Amino acid sequence: MSNCCQTKSTTTAPSKLTIALCGNPNSGKTTLFNNLTGSNQKVGNWPGVTVEQKLGSYKKDNTVAIVDTPGIYSLSPFTIDEQIAHKYLMEGKPDLVINIVDSTNLERNLFLTSQLMELDVPVVVALNMQDEAKAKGIHINKDMLEEYFGCAFFAISAAKNQGIDELMAYCIAGNYQSKNHFVYSDAVEDAIKLLQPLTSTADNGRWTSLKLAEKDKTIIKMLNLDESQKQLVSTTHQTLKDTLGDIVSAQVAEQRYQKISAIVQKAQTIDTTGVKAEKAQRITEKIDKIVLNKWLAFPIFALIMSLVFVVSIGTLGGFLTDTINDSLTPWMQEVVNGWFANANVEWLRSLIVDGIIAGVMGVVGFVPQIMLLFGFIAILEASGYMSRIAFITDKLLNKIGLGGRSFVSMILGCGCSVPAIMATRTIKNINERNATITLTPFMPCSAKLAIISSFTTYILDGNALFAISFYFLSILAVILGGLIMKVFNRKKTNASDTFIMELPTYRAPAPTNVLKQMWERGRAFLIKAGTIIFTASVVLWLVQSFNFRFEFVTDANDSILAGIGKLIAPLFAPLGFNDGGYGWQYSVATLTGLAAKEVVVSTLEILLPAGLEGTISGLGAYSFVVYNLLTVPCVAAISASFTEQGNWKNGLKSVVFQLLAAYVVSLAIYQLGSLARDYTTEFVVSVSIIAIVFALYFAIRHIIKNRGCNCECDHCPHNATCTRDDRK
Ligand code: GDP
Ligand code: MG
Repeated sequence: MSNCCQTKSTTTAPSKLTIALCGNPNSGKTTLFNNLTGSNQKVGNWPGVTVEQKLGSYKKDNTVAIVDTPGIYSLSPFTIDEQIAHKYLMEGKPDLVINIVDSTNLERNLFLTSQLMELDVPVVVALNMQDEAKAKGIHINKDMLEEYFGCAFFAISAAKNQGIDELMAYCIAGNYQSKNHFVYSDAVEDAIKLLQPLTSTADNGRWTSLKLAEKDKTIIKMLNLDESQKQLVSTTHQTLKDTLGDIVSAQVAEQRYQKISAIVQKAQTIDTTGVKAEKAQRITEKIDKIVLNKWLAFPIFALIMSLVFVVSIGTLGGFLTDTINDSLTPWMQEVVNGWFANANVEWLRSLIVDGIIAGVMGVVGFVPQIMLLFGFIAILEASGYMSRIAFITDKLLNKIGLGGRSFVSMILGCGCSVPAIMATRTIKNINERNATITLTPFMPCSAKLAIISSFTTYILDGNALFAISFYFLSILAVILGGLIMKVFNRKKTNASDTFIMELPTYRAPAPTNVLKQMWERGRAFLIKAGTIIFTASVVLWLVQSFNFRFEFVTDANDSILAGIGKLIAPLFAPLGFNDGGYGWQYSVATLTGLAAKEVVVSTLEILLPAGLEGTISGLGAYSFVVYNLLTVPCVAAISASFTEQGNWKNGLKSVVFQLLAAYVVSLAIYQLGSLARDYTTEFVVSVSIIAIVFALYFAIRHIIKNRGCNCECDHCPHNATCTRDDRK
């Protein structure tokens, strides 16, 4: 853009050049971004979504803007991250794309490169991780790749700051080599040519034509085609289908893979005499032999996760949290009480001490645990172990409509649902992702531990079996919930979910990256405490301290909260909350738990000053704990669920699902439990009969289904003449 006309005055220097960094996850985009921008960066959100966007300017020339895009494997958008990167490349119109390629994983990374070639934006490829490639004895013939792809390739190491100046000098000079297009088989090329007139007005015409040939619905909609044009798309697609086979897009992808594989064969040589490289690979293989072993995989995983939890939630994290809760918070309250010692404004003192400090600090107390948990997760992720966890659990979880990545979320969910929900971004299949977001809050997060432990201690005889049973119940709820959602989602699933399960070599994580992640999570959590939790605390204090005539009350029994509690108490009576005559207190505690789950306990502490004992029966207490475990999580997690699912309809669906699940399960526990208590013999007999009938039904169904089947589909153990829709 020329700057000669000074008709408009702007406050910031206009960017001469906008460069987007684009590449596979873990290829080093963020490392390069940090290297290029130094401290000239700001964090925002991608337009319309709350996924972090990093923007900055080149530290050696601040008229060059740099954008860090989310990691993607291909330009076919499945995950939210891929959709964002795709949208930005198509509509954001950067002047140049630096495609960052992990040189140690050339073939997989060049798949994206081959797609970027189709766009109208100039591309420069940065062959990153040169240091690691060298150590592994990988040599890449740059000239050969340049000739094939028709754009410049630069060998760099973002972490070691090598080759970056040359790369940037080329980018800024602006004299880019023109690209070659990726050339497909004649049938595909003919189809592209045939459809090109339809896309002449669109950006990235060749890519758009290719997508039309694949009959991509979004593109057809975007182009606003008339009937005759749609007809042309259909016949072209059909012709392709006749030559290539059923799924055209898969065949197109296959052609890419094959060509890239051939190129890499020529351009890459690996000299395994490089001792170091082989050593790293050998070590990885050795570790994987143990870590992925059929019998050892799960025990090892359980051990590692237990250690993580013991340290982050228990010992160290617990100590830090206790220090905040038992020393810092009371100290702050004491100081504020001191200020108000002589002033006659009890309501203000109470608002600050009992409302704001108690509420906000209760959540701030979790910051050390959250930060530690995320430190460990960052280490597990960066070292390569997290990919293994996803790998070993993927198949198992597919049966209930979830996947390996969901499992990672569930694990995180034992600490806190908020980061667990945010971690679902890497899940491709939208149904799987939404199901994970809905089901993750069933896991007993660290705040719910407060509920479990206080009820187990005071009412359920301190029997640890009760505490453990809550964990099993949560897992059962996830499994059943997954199955139910799978039934509802059956018709809508994305059929082709070509998830690339990546098992990287083990790497020692960079401490600065781990610390940075800890800090970023801690900060995000603190911001939340300062906004949502602050507001919730004030509201809770208001309804607890005033009556309906807005008079300040000291006895919570006269408050608005009590009024609301009495209103909703009948709803919860069938769940046994009124077993001991304290129905409204228990009912209202489930509401205040919305602010944070620990508030359930603290509410009861305020409303039942004599303690929990004798206020509810054992069965009622069990049902109460289960209800609080399964019901909607706290506002922070609910808001994460809404924003991550991207629309309020799905968010609302999750809320309704969780409320229903909690109510139905607690109702069943209390009602069946009461029956069992009052009519022990009859109960045992009828349950046994029902169980036998079910077992017979499933056994017979299984036998009938698999009779004489000789297909090789995943479902049939007996290789039968399968009549299933998904037979191979
Ligand atoms: P992103 O997902 O593409 O943003 O990747 P990151 O920038 O987060 O990098 C992933 C991992 O690769 C981190 O542990 C980096 O420290 C490491 N990394 C990035 N660039 C290099 C490099 O040039 N050499 C080596 N050895 N490691 C690198
Ligand atoms: Mg990154």
